[in-house]
Amino acid sequence: MNPAQFAVFGHPIGHSLSPQIHQAFARQFGIELDYRAIDAEPAAFVAEVRRFFADAGRGANVTLPHKAAAFALADERSEAATRAGSANVLTPLSDGRLAAHNTDGAGMVRDITERHSVDLRGHTALLLGAGGAAHGVVGSLLDAGVGTLTIVNRSPEAADALADAIGDPARVHTRYWQDLSAIGSYDLILNATSAGVLGASLQLPFSLVGARALCYDLSYGAAASSFLAWAKTAGARYAFDGLGMLLETAADAFELWHGKRPDTEPVYQSLRRQHG
Ligand code: NDP
Repeated sequence: MNPAQFAVFGHPIGHSLSPQIHQAFARQFGIELDYRAIDAEPAAFVAEVRRFFADAGRGANVTLPHKAAAFALADERSEAATRAGSANVLTPLSDGRLAAHNTDGAGMVRDITERHSVDLRGHTALLLGAGGAAHGVVGSLLDAGVGTLTIVNRSPEAADALADAIGDPARVHTRYWQDLSAIGSYDLILNATSAGVLGASLQLPFSLVGARALCYDLSYGAAASSFLAWAKTAGARYAFDGLGMLLETAADAFELWHGKRPDTEPVYQSLRRQHG
C-alpha cells in the first residue's frame, strides 16, 4: 500500500521545513507518509488543492500567500480559522468536503508559555504588523490573558481593520508607526512583519522595551536576526524567534491528521542545531 499523501502549498515554497518536520514526527510513531512541498501560483492554488485531495491527499498545510484562499475554499472552518479569516491546515472530511483550521495562534502561545515558560497574563503587548500572521495570533494572545494589545502597522488602515475585527476595545488599541518612540514601553513585543524575510530591517526605538520584556519574532533564522539583535541591545529579558512556533503549529496539524501528539522538543533541538 502506498503511504498516505500530505503536502504544504506555498509560493515560493523551496525554503519550507514542513516536509522535514512532518517526517520527523511520523518517525516517532513508526508512521510512513509522503509529504511534498507544492509550489502553487496564486491563480492555480484552488485547482491544485482540489486535485491533491481528489488524488487521495490526506492533509495539507498552507503558507504564504495562500492562507486566505485556503480559508475561502473550505466547506467547514474551525473557530480559530474563522477568527483569523485564514487557514494554515486543510483536512478532508469523510464526505469529501474540506475543513479549514488555523493553528498559528495556539502554536505561538504554546511556544511562549510552555517551551519558554513565560506566563503572558497581564502583559502589555505590542504587535508589529497586521498581515496574515498577525490576524492568526491575536485571538490566542487575548485568550492567554494579555492585559492590553497595541497594534502598530506600517499601513495604519490594516491595523485599524484588525482591531475592528477583534472587537475588544477595552484591551485592543492601535497606534501609528511614526509614533513608536512616543508610546512608552511594553512587556511583550511581537514582530509579525515580513520585513526580515524581505531583507529589510525595522528601525525601532529602544524605549519600547520594558524592564521584563519578551521580544518575539515570528520569523526565524536569518530573517529574525536583526529584530533579535535590537531586542538584546535594548535590554530585553528574553528574545526568541519563531522556530518553536513553527514546530508547535506543525504538531497541531499532525495531531489533527493522525490523532497522535508528537514530541516537538527533539525536532526543535535538531532544527536549532541546523538553523541557528
Ligand atoms: P503578510 O504579507 O500577510 O504581512 C506582512 C506584514 O509585514 C504587513 O503588516 C506589512 O505591513 C509588514 N511589513 C512588511 N515589510 C515591512 C517593513 N519594511 N516595515 C514595516 N512593516 C513591514 O505576511 P504574514 O503576516 O503572513 O507573515 C509575517 C511574518 O510572520 C513572516 O516573517 C512569516 O515568515 C512569519 N510567520 C511565521 C510563522 C511561524 O510558524 N513561525 C507562521 C506564519 C508567519 P503593510 O501592511 O504596511 O504592508
